[in-house]
Amino acid sequence: MKTDYDLFIDGRWMKPGARFEVRVPYDGAVFGTAPKASRAEVEQAIAAAKRAAPAAAKLPSHKRYEILMKTATLMQQRTEDFARAIASESGKPIREARGEVGRSVQTLIFSAEEAKRNVGEMVPVDAHPGGTDRLGFTLRMPRGVIAAITPFNFPLNLVCHKVGPALAGGNTVVHKPASTTPICGYMLAELFAEAGLPAGFLNTVSGGGGEVGDFLVAHPDVAMVTFTGSAEVGKHIRAVAGMKPVTLELGANCAAIVDSDADMDLALGRCATGGFAHSGQVCIHLQRIYVAGKTAGDFTDALRSRVAAFRIGHPLEDASDVTSLIDEPNAARVTDWIAEAERDGARKLIGGERAGRATVTPAILSGTQPGMKAVADEIFGPVVCVESFDSIERAVEMVNRSRYGLQAGVFTRDISRALWAAQQIECGGVMINDVPTFRVDQMPYGGVKDSGVGREGPRYALQEMTETKTVVINLTGAPR
Ligand code: NAD
Repeated sequence: MKTDYDLFIDGRWMKPGARFEVRVPYDGAVFGTAPKASRAEVEQAIAAAKRAAPAAAKLPSHKRYEILMKTATLMQQRTEDFARAIASESGKPIREARGEVGRSVQTLIFSAEEAKRNVGEMVPVDAHPGGTDRLGFTLRMPRGVIAAITPFNFPLNLVCHKVGPALAGGNTVVHKPASTTPICGYMLAELFAEAGLPAGFLNTVSGGGGEVGDFLVAHPDVAMVTFTGSAEVGKHIRAVAGMKPVTLELGANCAAIVDSDADMDLALGRCATGGFAHSGQVCIHLQRIYVAGKTAGDFTDALRSRVAAFRIGHPLEDASDVTSLIDEPNAARVTDWIAEAERDGARKLIGGERAGRATVTPAILSGTQPGMKAVADEIFGPVVCVESFDSIERAVEMVNRSRYGLQAGVFTRDISRALWAAQQIECGGVMINDVPTFRVDQMPYGGVKDSGVGREGPRYALQEMTETKTVVINLTGAPR
């Protein structure tokens, strides 16, 4: 399996001026190497995407469909290689990594299908007195060159969520993967080339966020920026992007409510998954659980037993449930936040210790306060805070006490309460009888408040990545 990549620009592999090592976060072993692109090299990628833009806009929908479908098929055939790359560079347990490849295949298929449905609509122009004798409709026009900037935690699927809809809509792309996880991005570019994507339609350039990313965002030939990552970088990008349309899929400190009438086994199983998948490094990680007062004690004890059973190990071992955080500074940050919460009166019921290079053992906190970092900020680690509530109104208030608003979960058998809560909770999606961590790739997905702007899911991303153009025909003088 190839793990050393060059820059992918204008359909060719180009030797970079500088390279960096990509390491397995769990043990620091070198997995591969990737280019550290210079500004001149990024400029070449943008120029290639710009040259290819007219051809991309003209490529018929059935061709866009065929290329996206072929890429999906090739990816499916190479599931194990992609899963090993995801597990190695991001530290995701291999079983979850295989799941990510399966989802990426689906994201490409949904994008292919959207290429065939990229339609505008009829506009009833003559509904206005001034529009008599006019016929109107809209076209969905490609925007041109789209800059796609992606994070480390889903190094394949989140790239497919940008590249798939962008190509389906007739755009060209310059992709900058996260510096910790660039290999999957290059593997995807390789697959698209094999599937027949013309030169220049997709260009991949890795390198530092501050240098490559900023340059891309500010470049006058980049028509749109689609970014997934932290709220801090997202805000910066919005400031640098000026008038360009920007989609921002940012972080969160997601919460679930477990009401007293909930199916407790269901809630426990889903909370154990939502709280600790990929060591909590998931944007819709379940960070806060609010449990109805009389059941809170039993729920917390049972969750602790499940957490105690997790196996910590190397990401390539099938038995591993938990591996490590992306790097040592993040592991240190998570244990610091836990220590700060304990200092201010919270109780650590299990875990929260450093182990190995960048591993933090899965932790449950209780007795926290809303202002603590472990509650108020995105912890992005294997930590859940469990607190009790005495009324559903109060529980919703606690969920909403956040600068973020990505997704939330509500466990209850009472449909009226569930729907009431779904309407009151301030976020992009509410999962009933599930954790906020639930996502299938065709659904509209995105946040409110500091969790971002715009929606992904191929159909919704395609709306953002195409421009509405209105066409009105003056029929005055036509035979009556
Ligand atoms: P990050 O913000 O540190 O980096 C994301 C990307 O931005 C990387 O490619 C990075 O190199 C680049 N970047 C950094 N500085 C830049 C700059 N000045 N200009 C342009 N690009 C720059 O995020 P991360 O640590 O890789 O990922 C974790 C974050 O991503 C978490 O906050 C998580 O919640 C969020 N996330 C959100 C979603 C979602 O869909 N809402 C999905 C996954 C991850």
